[in-house]
Amino acid sequence: MTQQTALTVPCPECAADVAFAEAPMESEIVPCGDCGADLEVRGTSPITLETAPEVEEDWGE
Ligand SMILES: [Zn+2]
Repeated sequence: MTQQTALTVPCPECAADVAFAEAPMESEIVPCGDCGADLEVRGTSPITLETAPEVEEDWGE
């Protein structure tokens, strides 16, 4: 019996397929290999991705 664990979800930014070797954890940040956007896993069943909010670098200029 073959268990296919490869998963792909379309990138919300560029619609390219983002591939997962295994199911990601919720709130995991994954980079899109195509556009480089950071994507946050918002759900795991099914997997849904959302563009991760940009981290404001508030280090005090
Ligand atoms: Zn993308």
